[in-house]
Amino acid sequence: MLLTISTTVRPATELGFLLHKHPDRVQEFGQSYGTARVFYPEASEERCTAALMLEVDPVALVRTRGRTSPDFSLSQYVNDRPYAASSLLAVAIGDVFRTARAGRCNARPELAAAALPLEITLPAMPCRGGADLARRLFEPLGWQVEARAVPLDEQFPEWGDSRYVRLELRGGVRLADALNHLYVLLPVLDDGKHYWIAPDEVDKLIRAGEGWLRGHPERGLITRRYLGRRPTLARTAFARLAELGDETEEALEPAVEEEPAPEPQQEPKAVPLNTLRREAVLAKLEELGAATVIDLGCGSGQLVGALLGRPRFTRVTGVDVSPLALAIAARKLKLDRMPDTKRARLTLFQGALTYTDKRFAGYDAAVLMEVIEHVDPPRLAALERVVFGHAKPAHVLVTTPNVEYNPRYEFLTGLRHNDHRFEWTRAEFTAWATRVAAEYGYRVAFAPVGEADPELGPPTQMGVFTHEH
Ligand code: SAH
Repeated sequence: MLLTISTTVRPATELGFLLHKHPDRVQEFGQSYGTARVFYPEASEERCTAALMLEVDPVALVRTRGRTSPDFSLSQYVNDRPYAASSLLAVAIGDVFRTARAGRCNARPELAAAALPLEITLPAMPCRGGADLARRLFEPLGWQVEARAVPLDEQFPEWGDSRYVRLELRGGVRLADALNHLYVLLPVLDDGKHYWIAPDEVDKLIRAGEGWLRGHPERGLITRRYLGRRPTLARTAFARLAELGDETEEALEPAVEEEPAPEPQQEPKAVPLNTLRREAVLAKLEELGAATVIDLGCGSGQLVGALLGRPRFTRVTGVDVSPLALAIAARKLKLDRMPDTKRARLTLFQGALTYTDKRFAGYDAAVLMEVIEHVDPPRLAALERVVFGHAKPAHVLVTTPNVEYNPRYEFLTGLRHNDHRFEWTRAEFTAWATRVAAEYGYRVAFAPVGEADPELGPPTQMGVFTHEH
């Protein structure tokens, strides 16, 4: 089983830093089902290729069968697993490139955050749904996809195609995103019987899918297949996805090709947390009488859209560091079809909150909704300076998770998102906000968002900063 990742970024050998694997060495990683090796078939300034090769030991594979280990329905010793990229490869990606997948690289933070020219090749991928499904899954994520069915035997084309596909992906994608795409979509394409039986698979899916799954047109199929078509897990995942973002209804609708979940929904549908958050922020902005608002880290533009829907907000700006987020925002806001009067109130631009930017200044209020926890703690001081020191709006609204509430999420094992650098207790957030307010001449008040647990507090905490003139 082989996967290669190439880049032509200059110097291309930086790939070694990003993957946390040195280009000069072959490295081995023992896995419960065999050995994963990482090596570099080419490593020059112009082009660098990292290969992940998986050698599956069928005996080890069988021996590790158990509740939490790979469980293959195929006959035990004779199966195609050793020869095809599949869910095991995804497991290896998850394990061997764990740090790279989280987008962390202290040596090259700016490269880890940037879209890089990447090429990914998988010579033999089991693919239920064929080359066409591979395209449907990867193209919306910004990949150019070449997927060709592998013939059963090249000597005998009349025998037809095997169920394998040679897959080549090309695109300008962040390396961490690329690895997460593979981590989720390889097993989805394989759709064999996986070991996905542990409830924390929901968590893994949500984390690996952060930033792309909720907006993916095939998210229903992806979620159902990834979770082995277990309706209960899939519903949990849909609820979590809805909470993160968009289009709850759509995500909850069963895909046509797959069986709908049979269990009736007993409880009244709860309002997703992200809706409550948006409503809380809107209400606060109205209460403060803000007319011009800048949404810092606007993501897919939900708040921006809601602000534009209310004429009292005369100037609305969304900023994000991620071009993909901005592209999604532009699509969701239907920017191309927006009436001129509305369009005139809106500005969207790319920017980083850790660098001073004149364009952030001149608003009544700035919103940092679920953003600070995405910033590395050592960079947080820069964000504070940029927002509270330079942009200096009359009001700043900050929301962030209350980590104390996390035990209330049934399947959550770590932080709420893959990309969160931290999550704070109420005391930690209060201390941070109080310190920042004092340092930059603001006063701060706190408000809970979402239904509070009597002991653990609300799911989201909000700080409302007001400049003291
Ligand atoms: N505010 C939105 C999105 C939250 S997700 C909402 O509540 O739905 C966090 C967003 O912050 C992401 O879109 C991410 O790209 C953006 N972000 C993270 N670090 C950033 C930085 N340093 N500068 C600008 N945007 C950043």
